[in-house]
Amino acid sequence: MNVLVINCGSSSLKFQLINSESEKVLAKGLCERIGIDGSLTYQPEGGEKVKSDKAMPTHTEAIQFVIDALTDEMTGVVKSLNEIGAVGHRVVHGGEKFANSVVITDEVIKAIEECNDLAPLHNPANLIGIRACQKLMPGTPMVAVFDTAFHQTMPEKAYMYGLPYEYYEKYKVRRYGFHGTSHSFVSKRAAELAGKPYESLKTIVCHLGNGASICAVENGKSVDTSMGLTPLEGLVMGTRSGDIDPAILEFIAKKEDLDIAGLMNMLNKKSGVYGLSNYLSSDFRDLSAGAESGNKPAEIALDVFCYRVAKYVGAYAAAMNGVDVIAFTAGIGENSDIVREKVIDCLGYLGITLDKEANSKRGEEVLISTPESKVQVFIIPTNEELAIARETVALV
Ligand code: ADP
Repeated sequence: MNVLVINCGSSSLKFQLINSESEKVLAKGLCERIGIDGSLTYQPEGGEKVKSDKAMPTHTEAIQFVIDALTDEMTGVVKSLNEIGAVGHRVVHGGEKFANSVVITDEVIKAIEECNDLAPLHNPANLIGIRACQKLMPGTPMVAVFDTAFHQTMPEKAYMYGLPYEYYEKYKVRRYGFHGTSHSFVSKRAAELAGKPYESLKTIVCHLGNGASICAVENGKSVDTSMGLTPLEGLVMGTRSGDIDPAILEFIAKKEDLDIAGLMNMLNKKSGVYGLSNYLSSDFRDLSAGAESGNKPAEIALDVFCYRVAKYVGAYAAAMNGVDVIAFTAGIGENSDIVREKVIDCLGYLGITLDKEANSKRGEEVLISTPESKVQVFIIPTNEELAIARETVALV
């Protein structure tokens, strides 16, 4: 079956058409600037990437262009919509309602809407994508795959904040965690590569991309993860602060005359390694080059990032009373040997030793710990689209 995987944002839409038997990507692309002007980038398997400007007043036009491109006589990869068996939608927040992926029905849409409060930037956009697809592909089954679902197995002690209980009761203020599709995919693959049963393994997944989170997976279940009610908590990220002393907010608000929106903008867009590096860059290629040429803020940003990752790994080894496997994934985790080395340098007490030559590889599945290492450490490229396609096929 061919599955169309959709990741819909407020003004953009990423898509992949995946054949579930071969697990090959038949075509992929991106619609950008929806509601502003609009452009479509489209690449069929083995073909050239082509970008064209198209008027996209709403997501419905964007999806129509995607369907047109996929079924086009010249560049298309299927003859008609009948060859698309299902659509898998990435949905950011499933709250406590969704511990698994689900086939989308009117009730499911209502339940996703009820989570909008928890992810006001993401969930409404995800719903727009779902509705636009339903309009253009009325007979095709659709599945929602949630970023939060994998973490619904966290115990209370991991997901409750030290805040008044009434806020949990009234508003469901608790830790949810994100990147669940990636943590699930990578932890399963880690067990396969380690040749051990997933159901009796302690794994720590470091998903280090622009957004970054760590997850403790014990016996196949997420037992803790570094993001919280929102994706702002936890690690120092590209532009997000991660954990800070909450009292800093009052302090900075007074000094800089910022309101809540100004503070949130600072925490989400101007902080992380970008802010730490004195606004040099949020990209680790720039930071590594900067640090190498003696740029002190770039060096500090790299050190703070890696130290925070190492602290979380230590915390999760404690949470699971041990760790068998550590996996690095996403843009930084897959590509930055410097980051992996700096993190693993802090983990000698766990009996981990790094194979420096293996660590110089990037973007492929490799064991980067030595045979003597007490914990196996892998690079495992994540593939959230394939994970969504698999979930979709399993449900339809
Ligand atoms: P997201 O999906 O959260 O936007 P990605 O997982 O695509 O992020 O990761 C993007 C980040 O990966 C970039 O900002 C950059 O810091 C890092 N990155 C990508 N390629 C490299 C590389 N070759 N070396 C170091 N870092 C890299």
